[in-house]
This record gives sequence, structure tokens and C-alpha cells, in this order.
Amino acid sequence: MSCIFCKIAEAEIPAKVVYEDDTVLAFLDIKPINPGHVLVIPKDHAESLAEISPEHLKCVAAAGRKVAEALRQALSSKCEGVNLFLADGKAAGQEVGHIHLHVIPRYPGDGFGLKFPTHYGNIPQDETDAVHKKLRSLLED
Ligand code: AMP
Ligand code: ZN
Repeated sequence: MSCIFCKIAEAEIPAKVVYEDDTVLAFLDIKPINPGHVLVIPKDHAESLAEISPEHLKCVAAAGRKVAEALRQALSSKCEGVNLFLADGKAAGQEVGHIHLHVIPRYPGDGFGLKFPTHYGNIPQDETDAVHKKLRSLLED
């Protein structure tokens, strides 16, 4: 098994685990954006949103909420907000090929943030309308 997060799930390599149940494991990110930055993973390997089962995704989300609540208590004034972030695919920033939810404690002026592109606020209306139409048709029951 070559997946680093599977190895963590199997306790083959160490991690600072903060929460675990039958389905998920949550542990501190080795290179935290802020102290208390946690990753939540499904124990069963799944690379992407397409691969993970809906049940396991629900468990990841539920554990992410638990961890966020605990961070607010643990860090008190140092945690004024929390980002949940999941990168699905390389273009979205995914570096480890085992799906994971980042739970990142945030406070004003911490310097972290998403960078907006130059076209932000200037997407042509016809592009928006076209994607709206396609999504509605793909997602309708
Ligand atoms: P992403 O760019 O969304 O794929 O994030 C991967 C994250 O995994 C990064 O924030 C890394 O710091 C973190 N990471 C990589 N290896 C380990 C490890 N062995 N233990 C804990 N976190 C790790
Ligand atoms: Zn894996």
C-alpha cells in the first residue's frame, strides 16, 4: 500500500490523531496553516468525491463539524472562525490522493486566504447562463 493516508489509517506511520470512529480518522496536519489545523479522512481509501461513498462522505462531514466545534473550545479567542476545505483534483490543489477535509482554525489577520482571479466579478453573463442551464438539466430529478 503506497498511499500515505492509508498508512496513517493503518497506524503504519505516526500521526497526531484527535478523533476516530469506525469510518473516519482525524489528525493534525503536519504543516499546519494555523495551530490546530486538522485533516479528516475516510479510513477506506477513496481518491476523490467521485470515489467516496455518500455514507462515508457524510461521516467525514460530520466529523469535520465535531472537530470545528472542539477547535473553537480548545483555542477559545484564537479561533474566531473555521474553514472547511476539500480539494478535489490537482487543479483544485489536491496533493495527497486520498480524499481529506481540511478543518482550519481562523482568526483575523492570519494571512491565509483564497486568491481571487483577475476575471473575478467579470464573468460574461452568457457563460453563467449556459452553465446554469446545463447544471439544472443534469441535476433535476
Ligand atoms: P492537499 O493539498 O489538500 O492535498 O493537502 C494535503 C495536506 O496533507 C497538506 O496540508 C499536508 O501538510 C498534509 N500532509 C501530508 N503528509 C502528511 C502527514 N504525514 N501527516 C499529516 N499531514 C500530512
Ligand atoms: Zn489511501
